[in-house]
Amino acid sequence: MNFTLPEELRMLQEQLRRFVDKEIIPIEKDAYSGPDMVPRIRESLSQKTKEMGLWLYGVPEEYGGHGLGMLGKAVVWEQMGRTIGLPTRKAQIFGPEISPTLYHLSPEQKEVYLYPVIRGEKSDCFAQTEPDAGGDPAAMKTTAVKCQDGYLINGAKHFITSADTADFAQVMTITDSKKGSHGGITAFLVDMDSPGVSIGRKEKTMMDDEPCDIHFDNVFVPEWKRMGAEGDGFKAAQVWINQGRIRHGARALGVMERCIEMGVSYAKQRSTFGKPLAERQAIQWMLVDSYIELQALRLLVYQAAYKYDAGEDIRYEAYIVKMRGDRLSFECADKCMQIHGGAGLTTSLPIEKFWRDQRSMMITEGPEEILKAALAKRIFDIY
Ligand SMILES: Cc1cc2nc3c(=O)[nH]c(=O)nc-3n(C[C@H](O)[C@H](O)[C@H](O)COP(=O)(O)OP(=O)(O)OC[C@H]3O[C@@H](n4cnc5c(N)ncnc54)[C@H](O)[C@@H]3O)c2cc1C
Repeated sequence: MNFTLPEELRMLQEQLRRFVDKEIIPIEKDAYSGPDMVPRIRESLSQKTKEMGLWLYGVPEEYGGHGLGMLGKAVVWEQMGRTIGLPTRKAQIFGPEISPTLYHLSPEQKEVYLYPVIRGEKSDCFAQTEPDAGGDPAAMKTTAVKCQDGYLINGAKHFITSADTADFAQVMTITDSKKGSHGGITAFLVDMDSPGVSIGRKEKTMMDDEPCDIHFDNVFVPEWKRMGAEGDGFKAAQVWINQGRIRHGARALGVMERCIEMGVSYAKQRSTFGKPLAERQAIQWMLVDSYIELQALRLLVYQAAYKYDAGEDIRYEAYIVKMRGDRLSFECADKCMQIHGGAGLTTSLPIEKFWRDQRSMMITEGPEEILKAALAKRIFDIY
C-alpha cells in the first residue's frame, strides 16, 4: 500500500500552503465586511489563483477547467481550511463553484444553466430543506403536480444558502407521496424570477451564513426543466451531498493543522507559575490528542477521495469523514481556545471563528445522529 500523495498533488499542496501563509493569513481578519468577502480582496486573491493556474480547478477539462479529481480537490479544501479569510462553505477565489449535479443535466439544460454558471454569468442555490423537513428530507411537503406541458410547484423551502442572490434554484419536490425518498422525489431547475417565487425571511446565524426561505406559489415549470427522470431527485441530491461530506472532512484537516500550529506556538511563548505552558503535561496531551486525530482523519479523508476517483460507492466513507471531521476539528479548535486562555476568546485571533464555524458543520449537510443511524444499519448488515 502507498499512503503518499502523487507527486503533482504534493507540489500542489506545498504551493497552496505557501499561498495561504503568505497571501491570505496576513489579511484574514480584514477579508470580510459583514457576511460577505470584501470585493477588492476577493478579486485580488482570484487574480492570484488565476496566475497559479488554479482557476476552475475542479471543473472537468471538457468544460474548460483543470479537471482535478476528488483527491486533488481534497488537497485544495484542506489547505484553504487553514484560514478564516475565505467563506467556510464556498471558497469564491477559484472561480464559480459548480454544483456536481449540473454536469448531469441534458444538453439543452446545460446550455441554459451549466455553461452560464461556469462563465460566471449565473449562480444557483440548492433547495431541499423545509421548515418541517431538514435532517429527514423525505418528510418534505413541497409538491410538483403535473399539468399541461409541465408542473406546478407549491410549497416553501427553509435555510437556503444564497437564495437571495441566485438566478436559479435546484428544487427538490414531492411528485409521489407514497414513494417518498424511494422514487417519489423529483428535482427541478427553477428560475428565481419565475412568477410565484418569492424570497422570505433571511436568518442571521452565529456564522457568516445568512440562509433564506423561498416560497413557491403555483410556480409553473416546463417539463424540460425537470432534472433527470421523475422520482430520481433524491439520488441526484445524494451525489451532491456525498461530495460535500468529503469537503467537510478535508476542511477539518486544515482547521486542525492551523489550530495545532497556533496551540504549539502559544504554549512555547506563554509562561505561568514560572514555566512555559509547553512544559505542562495537561497542555502537551491536548496537542498530542489533536495530532493523533489529525493523522487518522487525514487517512480517512484521502482514502474516501481516492475511492471516489476510482468510481466506488463511498456513501459510508462520506458519512464517516463528515462526522469525524466536523467533531474532531471542533474539539481541536476548542482545545486551542483553552490553551490560549482569554486571548482565545477574542476576535483578534481566528480561533473563535474556527470554533463557531466547525460547530455549525456538525448540523448542516446531515446532523451526526442521523448519519450514525444510517451507519448503524450498515454495520448490522455487515456483521
Ligand atoms: C447556515 C445554513 C445553511 C444551510 N444551507 C442549506 C442549503 O443551501 N440548502 C438546503 O437544502 N438546506 C440548507 N440548510 C439546512 C440544513 O441542511 C439543515 O438545517 C440540516 O440538515 C438539519 O436539519 P434541521 O435543522 O431541520 O434539523 P432536524 O432534522 O429537525 O434535527 C434536529 C436535531 O435533532 C437530532 N435528530 C434528528 N433526527 C434524529 C434521529 N433520527 N435520531 C437522533 N437524533 C436526531 C439531531 O441532533 C439534529 O441536529 C442550511 C442550514 C444552515 C444552518
